[in-house]
Amino acid sequence: MIDLKQFELWFVTGSQSLYGPAVLREVAAHSQEIAAALSASAAVPVRVVFKPVLTSPEAIAALCQEANTATACVGVVTWCHTFSPSKMWINGLRLLRKPVLHLHTQHNRDIPWSSIDMDFMNLNQAAHGDREHGFIMSRLRMNRKVVVGHWQEPSVQQRLGAWARAAAAWHDAQGARFARFGDNMREVAVTEGDKVAAQIRFGYGVNGYGVGDLVRCVNGVTDADIDRLTREYEQTYAMASDLRAGGARHASVREAARIELGLRAFLTAGDFKGFTDTFEDLHGLAQLPGIAVQRLMAEGYGFGAEGDWKTAALVRAMKVMASGLPGGTSFMEDYTYHFHPAGAKVLGAHMLEICPSIAAGQPSLQVHPLGIGGKADPVRLVFDTPAGPGLNASIVDLGNRFRLLVNEVDVVPAEVPMPKLPVARGVWVPRPNLETAAACWIHGGGAHHTGFSRALTREHLEDYAEIAGIECVMIGADATVYRIKQELRWNEMYYALSQGWNG
Ligand code: MN
Repeated sequence: MIDLKQFELWFVTGSQSLYGPAVLREVAAHSQEIAAALSASAAVPVRVVFKPVLTSPEAIAALCQEANTATACVGVVTWCHTFSPSKMWINGLRLLRKPVLHLHTQHNRDIPWSSIDMDFMNLNQAAHGDREHGFIMSRLRMNRKVVVGHWQEPSVQQRLGAWARAAAAWHDAQGARFARFGDNMREVAVTEGDKVAAQIRFGYGVNGYGVGDLVRCVNGVTDADIDRLTREYEQTYAMASDLRAGGARHASVREAARIELGLRAFLTAGDFKGFTDTFEDLHGLAQLPGIAVQRLMAEGYGFGAEGDWKTAALVRAMKVMASGLPGGTSFMEDYTYHFHPAGAKVLGAHMLEICPSIAAGQPSLQVHPLGIGGKADPVRLVFDTPAGPGLNASIVDLGNRFRLLVNEVDVVPAEVPMPKLPVARGVWVPRPNLETAAACWIHGGGAHHTGFSRALTREHLEDYAEIAGIECVMIGADATVYRIKQELRWNEMYYALSQGWNG
């Protein structure tokens, strides 16, 4: 899985030389204490590294340039314990390419009412020092997160930790490679998009490969490796006896294992972080990859079906953000509705490719025919998704820019078992309800494909969109169609004015 402890946030404190060395030493000591506490917090998944207190334009610019090129640094946390005149920060902030979080905190939690004097006030002056600092970022129109509160508060550490996850996902996307086997599902619009614009905006590259390149890897798999992997399947999943070694249908399972091993070899050799395929282009593959895709997603690969590279990249970003959190993340599709008067629900699934990280209990390995594609019966893992809160997210290509749509949902238990449905699935009630949520989603141009997560909250996705500089439309408990339609129209104008042709 993705290890977030390899990443760093740089904790940067602004000040000025006016205060003299004794006060600056105290500022540095307090900053070190805060950085160490944040680094040790279970709510913060990355390391937080103290950097020397900055008191000059030259030091600020040098630090920002150093952060830009530091491969472990995913973002910069700034704080002004004292006052740091912000004209000193202009050059540095204009150079800075890493995400910024402004932590508006104070070293001392409480005012010592009975003993407070001018020395205390002059040291603990973030209340105005950070406003000067915030002004220059607003003046520079910088996207950033502002977190307010005492640094020891769990909610403050959690907000910073959520942002750190988004910053890590952003870092992961820079230079990331995604493989597209075949092209798009023919005539489908929503899974298409501008790959050049996506690379400029998000930093990842998507390139196509002939499925024959994959078939060569699949055909290169050894019988010994297939033996080993099918044994792993038998130990990991519930399987009918005729699918096990020696069983009448075991050959299907061996073929699926061959595809998994070949696909993994291809992705490893090319250092890919995700991929797409399409059932319309499987020449030389015996089955549409099912269990292979499911297991690779569980390892952290992004995936989108039918050529959906935007969702593949989004699922990868969500996997990075969710690393180490309880609950899983998967490629998903709004598949079919339950329009019952007592409450409408969505059944989410796909033909095969749902990640077992969202499974309740042990998945069942099954082989069934697939109605489309004209290939042999594919092997897939079948399971239900446990009840609880979650969300769906979709990246929309609007032609001049990208939009992130998010809908919070509540996964509910299936009313009765679905023994004849041979795919992994989840049943949920969108917030505030299906009628409103789906209308908002459709007005927003959201795809049927999504990244679905039981691990992430709206805050992670909001932070990611803020870092990426894209629109984020949140459909939650407070959503109304009227307000969302207004928001979409206003955003259209905002992004046209603020980003113009470079959206
Ligand atoms: Mn689909």
